[in-house]
Amino acid sequence: MKLLLKGGQVYDQGTFVPMDIEVTDGVVTARSASISATEYDRVLDVSGLHVFPGFVDVHVHLREPGFSYKETIATGTRACARGGYTTVCAMPNLNPAPDSDEHLREQEKLIQQNAVIRVLPYGTITLGQKGEGELTNMAALAPRVCGFSDDGRGVKERETMREAMLNCKAVDSIIAAHCEDMSLIPAGGAIHDGSFAREHGIPGIPSQSEWGPIARDVELIRETGCRYHVCHVSAKESVEIIRQAKAAGLDITCETGPHYLLMCQDDLQDEGRFKMNPPLRDKADQEALIAGLLDGTIDMIATDHAPHSAEEKGKGLAKSAMGVVGIETAFPLLYTHLVKPGIITLAQLVEALTTAPRQRFRLDGGLNVGDRAEITVFDLNAPSTVNPEDFLSKGHATPFEGWQVDARCRYTICGDKIAYEN
Ligand SMILES: [Zn+2]
Repeated sequence: MKLLLKGGQVYDQGTFVPMDIEVTDGVVTARSASISATEYDRVLDVSGLHVFPGFVDVHVHLREPGFSYKETIATGTRACARGGYTTVCAMPNLNPAPDSDEHLREQEKLIQQNAVIRVLPYGTITLGQKGEGELTNMAALAPRVCGFSDDGRGVKERETMREAMLNCKAVDSIIAAHCEDMSLIPAGGAIHDGSFAREHGIPGIPSQSEWGPIARDVELIRETGCRYHVCHVSAKESVEIIRQAKAAGLDITCETGPHYLLMCQDDLQDEGRFKMNPPLRDKADQEALIAGLLDGTIDMIATDHAPHSAEEKGKGLAKSAMGVVGIETAFPLLYTHLVKPGIITLAQLVEALTTAPRQRFRLDGGLNVGDRAEITVFDLNAPSTVNPEDFLSKGHATPFEGWQVDARCRYTICGDKIAYEN
């Protein structure tokens, strides 16, 4: 297929340049101020629109195999495409978990059959994704996964993590760590251990259950030299530990999510759609995360898109399942509520959604000549309100229901496919 994007404002190293882009059989083959629109299978008129490299999310839950009542590869990747995402990394809390060649093959088959964008699986760190016990054969899995994670569970024992890091280092892969010390939450927790939890008698999750394991793992990175990425940073102490680790030259990166940047416990209502793990923390944590994004401590933004059924999310803060959807609203929300008020620049946002994850996870794709085409086109003057009824995801639980957004995805191009158009 030969495709021409005509008349757009194209993102180019921090600025926007009026340019046409030609894509031939899934590869960007030309970019220039004006390409004449003859001999194309499709010409997309993108005048007045902004053209970005396709977004990358290194942390999504697509729920298949095993939990197709929550989400499927088909619905999940359509939702990703609607959010402007062209590559996502799928977390391995599945059934079966991708902990062996055979189990990984099941997931790969579903991806091949049903994905409308690129999906890269994580392999698990431990067998059965238990956070303890026997380690997977990383050497066997590494060529087919984007990295290793036990997301949903922290790796409990220091020695287990040390060995995992040594194995990971040996195969030159990356560990994406869900940092949570369950021993600090013996009764289980539902929301941040702060004012809302105390006032409403809801069991709390202390920040230390996150920063404790990060501090432990920083020592292990120092010892092993493993490439290491912290998932969903939510606490101010975590930001400071990672800042210090980077200053010491350690091979560490991290992500945070749109909800941690735009909300805190002051926004909580006693509804399941406000419940995720880690939880919305204090205003001071939210501010520290924004400061971390601005000074480069936080490398990238990942949604932790975690769909559940309406029933699972309909039991209030105390009893609902952990996790909210986010892939369809991430860019519109961040653009409207961080970029437009001048808190971060559009270039910083694009960096956190494209360049940073691609570099860290060594992914190709983009909108430069020679790239495998990953291109997303947004209208930045299209006001609407977040309405879960519009979602392509099966999950509808979002804390941002009713929020105003000014950006709308118009096209998402992944390889030789137009994965989404509106
Ligand atoms: Zn997690």
